[in-house]
Amino acid sequence: MIPRLRLALQKKGRLAQDSISLLERCGLQFYVKGNALLTHVQNFPIDLLFVRDDDIPTLVFDGLCDGGIIGSNVLLEAELEAALRFPQKKYQSILPLDNCHCRLMIAVPEGMSYAGPASLEGKRIATSYPLLLADYLTKQHVSAQTLFLHGSVEVAPRMGMADAICDLVSSGQTLEENKLVAVETILESQAILIRGVHSISEQQQELLDMLARRIQAVQHALKRKYIAFHAPKNALESICQELPGVESPTILPLPGDPDKVVVHVVSAEGVFWNTLETIQSLGASSILILPIEKILE
Ligand code: ATP
Ligand code: ZN
Repeated sequence: MIPRLRLALQKKGRLAQDSISLLERCGLQFYVKGNALLTHVQNFPIDLLFVRDDDIPTLVFDGLCDGGIIGSNVLLEAELEAALRFPQKKYQSILPLDNCHCRLMIAVPEGMSYAGPASLEGKRIATSYPLLLADYLTKQHVSAQTLFLHGSVEVAPRMGMADAICDLVSSGQTLEENKLVAVETILESQAILIRGVHSISEQQQELLDMLARRIQAVQHALKRKYIAFHAPKNALESICQELPGVESPTILPLPGDPDKVVVHVVSAEGVFWNTLETIQSLGASSILILPIEKILE
């Protein structure tokens, strides 16, 4: 019997749904039951362990899970922590997953005068990422105090507990609500598929390679769209020029209308409303935009 490959995923939160959908799109069949910690994938010898995201690096570093999906912010903080005890690398990055994008940023209160990292000298900075922050400050030759908080970091300046914060930012709305302004980016983060450095069987390695290949095929497809439309023959060239990253269109006759053709194209990038409106103004009609499920090249 092939030993089952064990992957750690976030149980609940921002990474959870994207991780589950990604694995489902890769053809893994499983059912996540309420509070279950472990789920068996039915059609592959893979088990999914659902935990808090903060536990994922340790589970992988210690070999209790063979791989996992984690935000690079949590991964790199855990790596710095592990490096204090075990200098050798404890994981390998397999693939960035292009989701859960956010930035680890330093933000200061709106009224504070800020003229670069030197303005943080001697200040107190609240964060859940003390090691990434310390690493950044050292590189900037700035000496500041760190206040470690598990959550609600953004309220620390208002409560008089800190002069600045170092926290995750995506839309910036939380900062705005707390009258804070982002001034420095410490890290650009996204979800990432990792594996441990412990040895796994050949079959498990094949499974992991297959998963990485399928994820790449899914990601490739997600970025593209299949576009079909009718176009006047004499406007075909100008219409195709408006479509982002179009790869050799398929052009077919439109029965009953000799002046028009049917065009099928795969666009290499997302298609935005203004592009569609432009091609429509150039004469394109019956425009269909279809999601692509998989692309194998
Ligand atoms: P858990 O209960 O698993 O510890 P959590 O509260 O630490 O959950 P979430 O808020 O679900 O974690 O965030 C998980 C990850 O999502 C973050 O570590 C980060 O990689 C990513 N993320 C994307 N955008 C944001 C954001 N605006 N704020 C926080 N995390 C974000
Ligand atoms: Zn967490």
